[in-house]
Amino acid sequence: MDVACPSCGETEELRGVRRDETIELSCLECGHEWPRDLAPTCTACGGTDLQAVPLAIVEKGRGTQLSVVGTRTIHLCYECDAETIARWHRNRPNPLMPDELPTM
Ligand SMILES: [Zn+2]
Ligand SMILES: [Zn+2]
Repeated sequence: MDVACPSCGETEELRGVRRDETIELSCLECGHEWPRDLAPTCTACGGTDLQAVPLAIVEKGRGTQLSVVGTRTIHLCYECDAETIARWHRNRPNPLMPDELPTM
């Protein structure tokens, strides 16, 4: 982990706790705490030109209804996932629906 405490410059005695899209870092030397953004990269091409997109978490509800029970943030690549990003843009502000929905 190439990171240093912004308060005292410590690079060894650091602890990180992952929280969704960030890592909460704390310095054991001076007690300073700060968030660190994860720089997401595309798993397919390694690119960093990514779009954070809310993906719907869909569960099978009563009957044949599918209900969106929440969202989670995924990162789509403008190179590899351009079509999916375009699909999300068309339906904004709705979250992106997952490719695979629970079967009826
Ligand atoms: Zn420190
Ligand atoms: Zn990519």
